[in-house]
Amino acid sequence: MFDIKQYEKAESVKDAVRLLSENPNAKLISGGTDVLIRLREGHSEYSELVDIHDLEEIKGVSYTDTGDIEICAATTFTEVVDSEIINDVLPVLALASGTVGGPQVRNVATIGGNLCNGAVSADSLASLCVLDALLITESAEGEREIPIIDFYLGPGQVVLGQTEILKSIRICLDNYAGYGTHYYKYAMRNAMDIATIGCAAAVKMDDGKIETLKISFTVAAPKPIRAKTAEEFAVGLEPTEENIKKIAKQVMNDVTPRDSWRASKDFRLHIIETLAERVIKHAAEDAGGES
Ligand SMILES: Cc1cc2nc3c(=O)[nH]c(=O)nc-3n(C[C@H](O)[C@H](O)[C@H](O)COP(=O)(O)OP(=O)(O)OC[C@H]3O[C@@H](n4cnc5c(N)ncnc54)[C@H](O)[C@@H]3O)c2cc1C
Repeated sequence: MFDIKQYEKAESVKDAVRLLSENPNAKLISGGTDVLIRLREGHSEYSELVDIHDLEEIKGVSYTDTGDIEICAATTFTEVVDSEIINDVLPVLALASGTVGGPQVRNVATIGGNLCNGAVSADSLASLCVLDALLITESAEGEREIPIIDFYLGPGQVVLGQTEILKSIRICLDNYAGYGTHYYKYAMRNAMDIATIGCAAAVKMDDGKIETLKISFTVAAPKPIRAKTAEEFAVGLEPTEENIKKIAKQVMNDVTPRDSWRASKDFRLHIIETLAERVIKHAAEDAGGES
């Protein structure tokens, strides 16, 4: 059923880097929920595998000494959804992670695989973009930190080199403390469907006005985006219904959705504006602002 020509089980991240260096055709497999589907479809580029599934070294969620959050790449979505730390301080990520597939998929699918797969519909993406996540990788060349917004080159393409492994996702204290957040996934079905549009927002309030708005979309452009025009427009506004509608209109300057069999461009534009309003409103309320 699966045409696997070579399979190696890595014992550590360093071992996985070594195995990838020794075989330029080798690709990583973690939970396998994307890789195995591709293999079954006959994509031969996944026929030589280095398995990092269940490597303890890259599992789990923890605080660093400085209050940042470190989410290891091989943490499954079930573990993310159940994590006390994530629920306490990054509820937007718990919300988004809970929309991935169904329970069986979430039990094996990892957050690292979700990002490295490069799908612009990935459900963890929009929330990690408004949290300004940093991706920590290791390769034959050493370690590096990549801001999530720079990680995507286009549909299905990320900046990872052939020997590069995503080890963890870091959310700095300044990027979560004091923010109200929300995520909404619009899909044709309520479960087991990928996003037609995904939208996350993070709002910080000061004296009843929006001090900072971060708003991100998936499937609204060839790469995940932050709606910078809308973010700048929102600064200093009270989160009233009227103002939120105006901010949502500004989002139209930042998005470039396309027609696909899943939804037309016009329908996506309508969804984008509607979701922007809904998500900003909830995030502002969560941050203590009236709307
Ligand atoms: C039935 C079904 C429903 C689904 N529903 C959704 C959904 O609703 N929302 C959604 O976002 N996704 C969905 N998916 C897609 C999939 O489950 C996710 O993208 C998943 O998070 C991928 O993680 P994984 O560990 O299974 O990755 P894998 O399949 O193991 O790997 C995916 C890709 O990432 C690379 N990779 C994996 N880990 C690393 C790492 N640490 N460093 C570098 N590269 C790495 C692999 O080489 C491969 O290219 C669904 C899949 C199925 C089968």
